[in-house]
Amino acid sequence: MEPIVVVGGGLAAARATETLRSQGYDGDLVVVTGEPETPYERPPLSKDYLRGQADRGDLRTLDPQWYVDHAVDLRTSTTATGLDVAGHSLTTAPGGSLQYSRLLLATGSRVRRLDVPGGGLEGVHSLRSVADADRLADALASDGPVVVVGDGWIGMEVAASARQLGRDVTLVGRGARPLGALGDEVAAIFAAEHEAHGVRLLAGRTVTAFEGTDRVTGVTLDDGVTLEASTVVVGIGVTPEVGLAQAAGIDLRGADDGGGIVVDGTLRTSAPDVWAAGDIAAVPSPRYGRPLRIEHWAVADETGKHAALSMLGSGAEYDVLPYFFSDQLELGMEAKGLTEGEVVLSGAAADRECVAFWVDGGRVQGAMGINVWDRMDDAEELIRREGPVSRDELAGFVG
Ligand code: NAP
Repeated sequence: MEPIVVVGGGLAAARATETLRSQGYDGDLVVVTGEPETPYERPPLSKDYLRGQADRGDLRTLDPQWYVDHAVDLRTSTTATGLDVAGHSLTTAPGGSLQYSRLLLATGSRVRRLDVPGGGLEGVHSLRSVADADRLADALASDGPVVVVGDGWIGMEVAASARQLGRDVTLVGRGARPLGALGDEVAAIFAAEHEAHGVRLLAGRTVTAFEGTDRVTGVTLDDGVTLEASTVVVGIGVTPEVGLAQAAGIDLRGADDGGGIVVDGTLRTSAPDVWAAGDIAAVPSPRYGRPLRIEHWAVADETGKHAALSMLGSGAEYDVLPYFFSDQLELGMEAKGLTEGEVVLSGAAADRECVAFWVDGGRVQGAMGINVWDRMDDAEELIRREGPVSRDELAGFVG
């Protein structure tokens, strides 16, 4: 029997590999990752790892020795360059052609670049890999102002970490408020936390150029102002790595629908014996009645596991609600479901200690605990409730 091959170096790949072995698959198993590292998890890269409070080993889902002990052929620094789905073969560099019986695509995402003059200057960083985090940590260890471009999750977490390291930090976003997609009430809570700790927030601004000759010295905005900067971090979103699947003729979703690879509830793609998990998979959601493609750690974890079980013959449909968490300065949050709809708050929002619900058509779509912990299972019951949930019940959720 040809091996099962897993393509990817993140959590979805690692969790799938672990599950295959823990569920009794004892055939040949190959993991192909372009990175030089054993598959690892990214949440600490913008948080404790960036601040020097976690080491490289803490990032790994499984120790290097685990792969040896479980007879997994882990091929690091190996790029998957071609996929022939009819011939059940994957081409890698180095390595040539590799036959598979079943294949999991867990190729993750790549960062978007800001296409303005000076984008290639030394001192302009993005953050995706552990190597990126190492470079950025080195830069944050020296003095000088930091400008973060992009007001999503990476931008906010990096701004928080840089501030915790004592740096002068300005965060530039093009929206009215950072994390504006959460709605004004919730976004304001995050903004207040950053401002209370001295992060300067510039809203409604875009970057027109990075200044400097060899290395970056400033960031020029669309109002003509140039911010002094010795370190710049650009966090303006990611693009799913679907090139291999696309070239192989596997069905993709349109970019207008969020992109990614079309899978069924068992995470099978349109190609025989090929599954997809993690950032790249647009997974049908029974709760929301549409496919969701979500770039979060917990989704990689759950879909990696689910894909492995499916590869071993389970016909179960994936039905896990999206979950994610963030730590920024003294604010910690965890969230379940989707942050879509009208916001109803429960608890003390002014003290940054509350649960936010997103409600649409009377139904709870999602919930976020802000400095309130261990209520997401209760929130899930509300999200899964078939009928409407009253505002009074939501407002009284935090007693
Ligand atoms: P993100 O959360 O999607 O945020 C991207 C931000 O960049 C948005 O605020 C967006 O603004 C802005 N943006 C997009 N294009 C821009 C441009 N040309 N100029 C200026 N701003 C621009 O993405 P991310 O922060 O880069 O993180 C990457 C992925 O990792 C995301 O899916 C994120 O959810 C995930 N992540 C999760 C966590 C966590 O779970 N704690 C932490 C880090 C990252 P608009 O809203 O105006 O488009």
